[in-house]
Amino acid sequence: MRCVSERVGPGCRQPGFLWRVQAQHSFAGNSRQARTTISTVIRATIEGLRYSRGNLKIRLYDSLENIVQEIIEGLIRFQREVFPQQSALFKRLSTAQNPSTLFVTCSDSRVVPELLTQTEPGSLFVIRNAGNIVPSYGPEPGGVSATVEYAIAVLGVSDIVICGHSNCGAMTAISSCTNLEHMPAVASWLRHADAAKAINASRHYCSDAERLEALVKDNVIAQLGNIRTHPSVAVGLVNKTLRLHGWIFNIESGEMLALDGQSGKFLPLADNPEIFAG
Ligand SMILES: [Zn+2]
Repeated sequence: MRCVSERVGPGCRQPGFLWRVQAQHSFAGNSRQARTTISTVIRATIEGLRYSRGNLKIRLYDSLENIVQEIIEGLIRFQREVFPQQSALFKRLSTAQNPSTLFVTCSDSRVVPELLTQTEPGSLFVIRNAGNIVPSYGPEPGGVSATVEYAIAVLGVSDIVICGHSNCGAMTAISSCTNLEHMPAVASWLRHADAAKAINASRHYCSDAERLEALVKDNVIAQLGNIRTHPSVAVGLVNKTLRLHGWIFNIESGEMLALDGQSGKFLPLADNPEIFAG
């Protein structure tokens, strides 16, 4: 406690902050690991922000304090109010999981798979990254490939959803040809969407918004093509033990579009719950 308060600067000494951290410690009881984890999270995050400059520094400290508090308080609420009501579910899940679906979507904070699908813990096996991308299978498979393989070979999922979304930052960077020299890792990662980029660039659109909307769709289709190159997916599709779905979530309206593999069109999923991509 003393160590943390010394490191976070004047803002942390506000009564509200100290009371809340103490409350967490009280709740954690004798759990040394819980106390250490919370202290580490606070300390690491704040030290990361020490590199900020000028007046922004103080505001970052203040907002950081609020954000960390909000997260910890949410965890406390979960442990005190939500978990007891779902203890039977977590008891059942404590030794095994049996998700039916691999859900691949963007890291975007506004797209929350379990919220959108109203599913409980244990239902979705989730991959999230910038641009809901699945690299094609290759000689040096990475984390996404390993997760896809595990989902099929070990968990035996029957469905894979690749879900893009409106106002996607990754797709915006591609469609607007944003200079990504200062983010080489992002630039390299988005190369896995080159097929969608090329298709998008070959067409005419009346506006930037229309171009972006089309790219989000093209990217979902491209990633469905990429995931088909994974041996475990190919086998599942041939044996008809696996189905692919291409979805697009509209953040403003809440609508979900789904790719109809028959027509190649994206249709409202609520009106066409039976359609799938392939
Ligand atoms: Zn996105």
